[in-house]
Amino acid sequence: MDIHLFSTLSFAILGLLFGSFANVCVHRIPRGESIVSPGSQCPNCHTAIAWYDNIPVLSWLYLGRKCRHCSHPIAWRYPLLELTMGLMWASIVWFYPVQSYDPIFLAQAISLVTLLWILTLIDLETFLLPNALTFPGIVLGLAFAAYFGFFLDSLIGAVAGYGIFWLVARLFLIFTGKEGMGQGDFKLLAMLGAFMGWQALPFIILLSSLTGAIIGSITLILSKKGMRAEIPYGPYLAAAGVIWFFWSAPILHWYQGIFM
Ligand SMILES: [Zn+2]
Repeated sequence: MDIHLFSTLSFAILGLLFGSFANVCVHRIPRGESIVSPGSQCPNCHTAIAWYDNIPVLSWLYLGRKCRHCSHPIAWRYPLLELTMGLMWASIVWFYPVQSYDPIFLAQAISLVTLLWILTLIDLETFLLPNALTFPGIVLGLAFAAYFGFFLDSLIGAVAGYGIFWLVARLFLIFTGKEGMGQGDFKLLAMLGAFMGWQALPFIILLSSLTGAIIGSITLILSKKGMRAEIPYGPYLAAAGVIWFFWSAPILHWYQGIFM
């Protein structure tokens, strides 16, 4: 078999398996529980899940979307996370072939996308961006930057990312008396700055606040909860970060084209 196809399929399977572990992270990290022990268990009856009932996506299908023991329905989030993780890992390898690129680049891309996807799901469910993920993310981003030779840009990115949002939140609080952003958002922007350098920040802030404002207003109108409804901002930051990570070159090219 073609090596490129083989690596892509291998990473699809690894992604599916990791997605199963990511489900444990999404459920346990915001609850402050250990992600290693005990092993996977039903969130309803807490019966340990046997390995043959823990096969990504397939188990969910053959168990009829229910727990084998208590018949409690298994949320669609579980197979969806496994499937998307497999798809994302496979597409990263497919578009950035291991053999022609530095494997460290592959590790950087996969860890960034994986962290952002887990953070997005946690934020949507709990409105939290746990330090247990953003802090290691910042360290990881700095380490990759040191390897690729842009440590200073990365460090400035982390500090500025945190600082800018901290300042915006301060001003928002002073002028409106309300908390606008969560502390988790500061740390997520710091993580994105660490991974990509400070140069990524203007684009990420602009795109995330724009899409956040538009989609947020639509959600508020549709949900009819009024302005008190909480809107997670993390997913917009994560999406803008991924777009910049993979497509900053064409974006900059397009931007320069406008003024030339
Ligand atoms: Zn159960």
